[in-house]
Amino acid sequence: MNLLRSILSVLFVLTISSYNHNKPNKPGLEVVIKEDTNQFSQSQIKVANEIIINAEKKVRGLLPNLPKDIKVIIEIVDWDLNAVGGVTGRTETNNPAIVAIQVSNKFKGDISNALDIGLESTIFHEFHHLSRGWAIQDNKFERGISIAMVNEGLAVIFAEEYTNAVFEENHVPKDADADAWVKEILGLSKYADYQKWMFKHPDGRTSIGYRSGTFLVRQAMAKSGKNILELSNLTPNEIIKLAGY
Ligand SMILES: [Zn+2]
Repeated sequence: MNLLRSILSVLFVLTISSYNHNKPNKPGLEVVIKEDTNQFSQSQIKVANEIIINAEKKVRGLLPNLPKDIKVIIEIVDWDLNAVGGVTGRTETNNPAIVAIQVSNKFKGDISNALDIGLESTIFHEFHHLSRGWAIQDNKFERGISIAMVNEGLAVIFAEEYTNAVFEENHVPKDADADAWVKEILGLSKYADYQKWMFKHPDGRTSIGYRSGTFLVRQAMAKSGKNILELSNLTPNEIIKLAGY
């Protein structure tokens, strides 16, 4: 009986959480603080809210395709995010528009520091994905690392241009041949492994798709004279061509 009750209560909780996940957004921007064992202080919640609200206003002025209603879920994680300013994110779904933001409590030992350095640019990055429909669960693009490279490159450069936050993890190391990295990705099969090419390659390289993408997008800007907003209206193939590939 006790076991049955436990099973029923687990099912009940699962039902509630999937209901919460899928329910329609409140109109406009909704910021949800996800709390488990790690908790934000009241002042950190206030700071995070202000940064997200201001960033949303700025991005909405730049990217007219941004969905009207957006839910941002923010949580503390113990991951090492030192290479990207202490904050990372995922654009979960386009419809409803849901972005999950992770703030590291290991970033120079301080959540407030991560919020100051990484949160604004992460919102710019993820909201750029929303404006193009580049989401994990209901993605509007075809499969392929070359498409991921372009969409990530656009989001990184958009965030760099408008927040001035630049992280080395998004750029090909100076002693490496960026042109060769782009060609390597363009030569991959459509079914190449996402983890390997976007995050951690067995040969030791990390974030190859991101780093190559920023190089490619900068090349497309330089060769076409178009700015990042103009490029953001184009398809991945059009951008690859403008970059000279
Ligand atoms: Zn991204």
